Amino acid sequence: MTAHSNAPTTLTPSQPQAQPQPAAGAETSAGTGNKIRVATIWLDGCSGCHMSFLDMDERLVDLAQQIDIVYSPLVDTKTLPDRVDVGIIEGSISNEEDLHKAKLFREHCTLLISLGDCAVNGNVPAMRNPFKLESVYERAYLENVNVNQQIPSVGVPALLKTVLPVHAVVTIDVFVPGCPPNADVIHSVLSELIAGRTPEPLSQTRFGA
Ligand code: SF4
Repeated sequence: MTAHSNAPTTLTPSQPQAQPQPAAGAETSAGTGNKIRVATIWLDGCSGCHMSFLDMDERLVDLAQQIDIVYSPLVDTKTLPDRVDVGIIEGSISNEEDLHKAKLFREHCTLLISLGDCAVNGNVPAMRNPFKLESVYERAYLENVNVNQQIPSVGVPALLKTVLPVHAVVTIDVFVPGCPPNADVIHSVLSELIAGRTPEPLSQTRFGA
């Protein structure tokens, strides 16, 4: 199990616009353009954290001068670039696909942000953890279904026995709790990174906020 990373939690601005400071051991090719390259993903979450990201509203226009969203459910590009400066993960690790995607993000992203309570501590998805996996499948696919009751065996990723927070499987650089964290907090975190400072979201948000 992994928890915090020793990687730096700041991005060092350079001229004319911000450039990232790579994590220890990371390749230095991040930020090949003038803008900070940001990727986002939602795993087992409700998309509410991404909606909160969009709630930055007109501030997104200013942010767009300094960051490029290079991969996200919010944009058309569906291929994760080789190097990304900041990765933002919403949602917990509930199945094999979540696990694979979280590891992929860790591999490709210099800084990784765990966004929202589901990512930070499992939150709502982890409510299934006290139950046996068989009971969870039966409840979802047999007991609560009136038509075509069946437990799928192909085409859907296998559930993990228990739901895990993201930091249980990959190192995380910045934790941003909240359900969802509000847009001000997300804006503050990104602004601090752009300015080359270490964001301190725990002074602005908390579990359940
Ligand atoms: S933290 Fe809350 S808003 Fe974000 S994905 Fe989980 S349930 Fe949805």
